[in-house]
Amino acid sequence: MKELLKVKHLHKKFGENVVLNDIDLVVNKGEVVVVIGPSGCGKSTFLRCLNGLEKVQGGVVTVDGLPVEPDKKSIIKLRQKIGMVFQSYELFPHLSVIDNLILAPTKVQKRNKEEVIREAIELLEKVNLVEKKDFFARQLSGGQKQRVAIVRALLMHPDILLFDEVTAALDPEMVHEVLQTMLNLAKSGSTMIIVTHEMNFARAIADRILFFDKGEIVEQTDDVKAFFEKPKTKRAQRFLSTFS
Ligand code: ADP
Ligand code: MG
Repeated sequence: MKELLKVKHLHKKFGENVVLNDIDLVVNKGEVVVVIGPSGCGKSTFLRCLNGLEKVQGGVVTVDGLPVEPDKKSIIKLRQKIGMVFQSYELFPHLSVIDNLILAPTKVQKRNKEEVIREAIELLEKVNLVEKKDFFARQLSGGQKQRVAIVRALLMHPDILLFDEVTAALDPEMVHEVLQTMLNLAKSGSTMIIVTHEMNFARAIADRILFFDKGEIVEQTDDVKAFFEKPKTKRAQRFLSTFS
C-alpha cells in the first residue's frame, strides 16, 4: 500500500490559541478519510495546513514525498499533487463554465488547450453538466457550481483531494447531487480527505473516520460501522448524539 500523505507532529497556533496539537496521520493511496468534529475544533485549519495554505508552528507534512511548505517554490508542484474544494466554490462568476475549468490547467500547468477542453467535457458529462459548459458560472445553481468546482479540482490531476464542508452552503435539494459526485469519485479509487457534517454520507463513503475535538484526533478507526453505532470515547458519543 502506498503512503500518499504523511503528517507528523503537526502543531498550529493562531496567536496563543492552539488549534492543532500534535497531529499524526498517514493516508494511503485510494483511501477515503472522513474528518468529523464540533465546529471550531480545527478541521478547516487542518485541511489548510495539508495544502500549504497555513504557516505551521511545528511538524512535517509530505504529499507523495514532497514537503508542504507554504513559502517555497514547491507550492506550484504541490498544487498538482493536492487539490481542494471549499464550501464557497470560488468560481469566476463572469467566466463561462469551460473557461473556469481550463484556466489553471492551461495557465499554470501549461497544458494543451484542446486537450484540456476535451477532458473538461468528459468530466462535465460524468457530473451531468455538459449542457452548461458555455453558461456563465453565475447562472448556475449552488449544486451545479459545486460540481463544477469539483471538476475543476479533478482537472489538475491531483493525487489527493481535500473537501471542506462542500455541501454546507447548499439548499437541501442540491446536497444529494454533490454527495453523489463524491461517492462516484470514491468508487473510482480517488484518494480523499473529506470534512463533513453529513453523518449518513460519512458513514457511506468513509474507509476511515477521524473524530477531532479541540485540535486533537480523539478517535480514529476504520471500523466505520462500529464507530457510528457506538463510538469508544465519551466525546464522540456526545458529538454523535447531537445528530439523532
Ligand atoms: P472548524 O473547521 O473545525 O470549524 P477551524 O479550523 O475553522 O475549525 O477553526 C479552529 C480554530 O481556529 C477556531 O478557534 C478559530 O476561531 C481559529 N481560527 C481559524 N482561522 C483563524 C484565523 N485565520 N485567525 C485566527 N484564528 C483562526
Ligand atoms: Mg470548518
